[in-house]
Amino acid sequence: MSIRNNILKIKEEISDGVSLVAVSKTRSINEIKDAYNCGQKIFGENRVQEIIEKQQLLPDDIEWHMIGHLQKNKVKYISNFISLIHSLDRISLAKEIDKYAKKSNREIDCLIQLKISSEETKFGLDINLFEDFYSDINKYTNINIVGLMGMASFTQEKEKIIDEFNQIKELFDKMSLKNSNLKILSTGMSNDYKLALKNGSNMIRIGSKIFGKRDY
Ligand SMILES: *Cc1c(COP(=O)(O)O)cnc(C)c1O
Repeated sequence: MSIRNNILKIKEEISDGVSLVAVSKTRSINEIKDAYNCGQKIFGENRVQEIIEKQQLLPDDIEWHMIGHLQKNKVKYISNFISLIHSLDRISLAKEIDKYAKKSNREIDCLIQLKISSEETKFGLDINLFEDFYSDINKYTNINIVGLMGMASFTQEKEKIIDEFNQIKELFDKMSLKNSNLKILSTGMSNDYKLALKNGSNMIRIGSKIFGKRDY
């Protein structure tokens, strides 16, 4: 299957209100251009060095999303162009994003990344700490919290994945009733996006189903 066919196939499976983030980490400029040329405008990367190199070489109307763990000292390299940060999970990072957003004279949209998986390696804020975190973050005037992000466990156990997606969906439903700014629920990757879509996702992050298997 070509990149084009893969994208068209996924687009057929998702409804109008759902955004597709093409996860282009480790992929070449030419592969990204292939996706871009069939209308894909949102790309997600997880490394700062890689995203800035690609942003410089590719068209300006691409929306770049930072989907991976973000170190504070690297915020300054992406603050002037990043469209959405999916991985805000600590106050110290919020402080830094706010600082550089102000320097770039813009507001930066962010999702709060919640830890829904029981796996040790996953980043994200503990779901029980969410409400305090959300109210603390209010004071960072150049950050817009526009939704939530979560990664389910990497497992074949559907019930477990569904349970994890439901945890974040319940919180999202409750919070978005009170806060009309919360619009995005970013859940679902290549192996679990169908379950995510059934469980409230309106932004899916797809890498290997578009570009093929990664080497790592
Ligand atoms: C790599 C990555 C994805 C995409 O993974 P695939 O399984 O290739 O679809 C999605 N979200 C995050 C946070 C990632 O790091």
